[in-house]
Amino acid sequence: MVCRPAQAAGTAVEEVSAPAGFDPASADGLRRLAATYGSPLLVIDAQRVRAQYRRLEAALPGVVLHFALKPMPHPAVVRVLRDAGACFDLATDGEIDLVRRAHIEPGRCIHTHPIKRESDIRTALAYGIETFVADNPDEIRKFAKHRHRARLLIRVAFRSAEAVCDLSRKFGCDPEDALALVEFARSLGIGVRGFSFHVGSQAGGPGMHVAAIEACTRLLEAAATRGERCDLLDIGGGFPVDYRRAAMPIEEFCAPLCGALARLPQGVRAIAEPGRFVVAPAGIAVASVMGRAKRDGRWWYYLDDGLYGSYSGRLFDHAEYPIEALERTGERQRSVLAGPTCDSIDVIDEDIALPLLEIGDLVVGRSMGAYTWASATEFNFFPKASVIAVDRGQVIEEEET
Ligand SMILES: *Cc1c(COP(=O)(O)O)cnc(C)c1O
Repeated sequence: MVCRPAQAAGTAVEEVSAPAGFDPASADGLRRLAATYGSPLLVIDAQRVRAQYRRLEAALPGVVLHFALKPMPHPAVVRVLRDAGACFDLATDGEIDLVRRAHIEPGRCIHTHPIKRESDIRTALAYGIETFVADNPDEIRKFAKHRHRARLLIRVAFRSAEAVCDLSRKFGCDPEDALALVEFARSLGIGVRGFSFHVGSQAGGPGMHVAAIEACTRLLEAAATRGERCDLLDIGGGFPVDYRRAAMPIEEFCAPLCGALARLPQGVRAIAEPGRFVVAPAGIAVASVMGRAKRDGRWWYYLDDGLYGSYSGRLFDHAEYPIEALERTGERQRSVLAGPTCDSIDVIDEDIALPLLEIGDLVVGRSMGAYTWASATEFNFFPKASVIAVDRGQVIEEEET
């Protein structure tokens, strides 16, 4: 594993403020982008991506961060984080393709899907990935023929009632079965590097992470007494961000995690797989009002983006984005904000206080960088938002590969 700590990789590209260009998060910047590129847009503020990455890195000293591509699988985000020295957490062939096109060394990547097709494993191995995740005997068996090239993390489930998205319902073994799986792998000649977990996305507090780290510490100790040479604990993602409701500041969230990680057995390193925390605050959705109607005394505004587009996270991710009207001030009235498709489920907000909007007005959603564009569809032939990444006041152009 040749994950480069950021000090080594990122020193040359320390933050500079945007002098000549513009701030993509400002009303003026968003207006300029919409005037140039039309709508709907998903604007990515690259400086904010870097700042989020650095902030989490500082809050988790010594923990190597593997950015999980799933919440925002876009080449510009991959390149920004590549240049910041990040490592990557991949789960599919498409994600491997993204890091391959960004010329990211496979040693900076791990593959963490607990259930894989044989072809997924072959693609990842061909790329040079060596660390994979499994949580059951059938999955472990798939690695018997690759045992000279692959080693495993055993994913353990810790159910979290407080996370907004519980990721331990679908994946992970019972903690009581984890050591038996390590032994089973060993019986097939497959090396086990350690354990991983994901307590759920947008965690409500640090309690589940701490409990999971403590439980895995006991598993690692037990594995060591049985002669296993484990070197890795992967604490997953789940780091929360502000939506309409503020989250705990990340430094406060991570302090008890660091306390628990300090008690890991000697020789065991920790890594994490943040997704949401790195990209959510850096994404801003810009949509236009394409029509309006007064129904039962209330204004309905129809945007060119909706629940089948970037606002898909309202459904899949249970997220409540801060939404604002860019052009208008004035008295707010209870209104309905709807998406463009002909489906009646496509309503972003049934009851939102908005000033009187005109056709063509821009409506902006903040904290929309994670699980938004990634889960958007083109239902009814309404195109997904165009992603425009801005770095230091300049739009990032596609890189030739
Ligand atoms: C989705 C996912 C992540 C990212 O989780 P966040 O809560 O967005 O930080 C990390 N690891 C795995 C295995 C995932 O499936």
